Amino acid sequence: MSSAETIHIDGVWRAAASGAQREVLDPADAKTLAVVSEGGADDTDAAVAAARRAFDGGQGAWPRTPVAERAALLRRVAELLQRDREEIALTESRDTGKTLEEGRIDVDCVADAFRYFADLVVGEGAGRVVDAGSDTLHSVVVHEPVGVCALITPWNYPLLQASWKVAPALAAGNTFVIKPSEVTPLSTVLLMKLLVEAGLPDGVGNLVTGAGDPVGARLSEHPDVDLVSFTGGLASGVKVAQAAAPTVKKVALELGGKNPNVVFADACATDEDFDTAVDQALNAGFIHSGQVCSAGSRLIVEESVRDRFVAELARRAEKIRLGRGTEDGVECGPLVSAQQLDKTEAYVASALAEGATLRCGGSQPEPNEVRPAGGYFFSPTVLDHCHRAMKVVREETFGPILTVETFRTEDEAVALANDTEYGLAGAVWTKDAGRARRVAGRLRHGTVWINDFHPYLPQAEWGGFGKSGTGRELGPAGLAEYREAKHIYQNLAPEPVRWFAG
Ligand code: NAD
Repeated sequence: MSSAETIHIDGVWRAAASGAQREVLDPADAKTLAVVSEGGADDTDAAVAAARRAFDGGQGAWPRTPVAERAALLRRVAELLQRDREEIALTESRDTGKTLEEGRIDVDCVADAFRYFADLVVGEGAGRVVDAGSDTLHSVVVHEPVGVCALITPWNYPLLQASWKVAPALAAGNTFVIKPSEVTPLSTVLLMKLLVEAGLPDGVGNLVTGAGDPVGARLSEHPDVDLVSFTGGLASGVKVAQAAAPTVKKVALELGGKNPNVVFADACATDEDFDTAVDQALNAGFIHSGQVCSAGSRLIVEESVRDRFVAELARRAEKIRLGRGTEDGVECGPLVSAQQLDKTEAYVASALAEGATLRCGGSQPEPNEVRPAGGYFFSPTVLDHCHRAMKVVREETFGPILTVETFRTEDEAVALANDTEYGLAGAVWTKDAGRARRVAGRLRHGTVWINDFHPYLPQAEWGGFGKSGTGRELGPAGLAEYREAKHIYQNLAPEPVRWFAG
């Protein structure tokens, strides 16, 4: 595979049919990191055709491969990921801007996802027997793969999001075409190479690098695609759902979030508690420069502790070491692109115009020895005195911006936390166990953390309420997305029905 042959169809690495290429930029200095093939609609059609053939093939085809063999392949992929951990982590770090350590954690989580879905499918029964009411009737519900799956992924966690789709799709016996973000395609190319090395049959897994439109758009509308699983922004998700509707394919959407981090005063009772709550709020808002779908970008703090909390938060945010993700000692990398940088600057400007108070950050930092000029760096920003009418509070900024709102009562805290069109994730910090459970029960979000922020488990479903999406990834429901239920009803002693007299 030469650097620009990044399209993989039916077991063959190739360039785009048009010969078009795209430069992938290093967000730390805006210089070219790699060149990839820029696929088009014709490449996409060829990839879907290969996936279709691989799905519809005869007895030995992937959907009919014994579960134990499919699981064994997933486990081999997990082993290969661990073998190549440093190379993949470095690629992910340079492509997305995240720190090398975050890249390593991502690779470990990706391997875990492959292992989890392998274990899940081998541990299942072959179907659910249903009581049909007679010894001569046999009724069973089995689960079959959906078919050809289009997997469309974003740039913030390219490999992780790919694994949450590829692993269950393959475990369930589907074939797929994956389209990574055009901004960060490199680790998905590496994953495809590992799938091939692990023995994935030709045509079962296909990769088309290229833009959302045409590649993602064509996948979404394609009549031979049975399911689209999309992770990305709300606007693109709506387009995917619209494009998919005429062919009535299954659609799973993992979209954005505007995630509340609710801090009650009792969670700051001692100095240690206070330190923990502030530290976790910092992590919630600024890990990966806030480019996390579940980022705790809305701090909702009880009024009595607000001044002390925000002062400490801003003091610590100012000390975050920004730089190229591969440099030692760097805690936070750049934004992924010039577009994200512009968007972040615009959100800060609109917040200030709407009356927010800037407590720290708000601009690009000066270049230094770990922070090249030209990189898309933006200082962690805390905006105080925010309220729900502000654009920065309502919309997903996907940058290092943390807004502060306050409350006086539990009801007020819950109302603020739920006052979003999204519903991906949220946290509540309190020492009062009863209140913790009450608030967690009332939050309209797909994941709720009590006295924590950000952890997820492969065994537990991930996804959103409201405009954060439809469907779930991970957990048993994350496998069920890639399946159709089929009821097989067998009459062991058929007789005439005699409904019609003649
Ligand atoms: P994006 O919507 O711009 O792009 C996501 C993917 O969709 C890319 O591969 C892109 O090329 C493709 N795409 C764009 N237009 C398309 C179209 N018309 N048809 C089909 N595909 C199209 O999102 P992004 O900027 O890459 O990612 C950031 C977003 O992803 C944020 O909103 C974030 O919250 C969300 N996200 C959600 C989760 C989750 O689990 N819910 C996880 C990670 C990221």
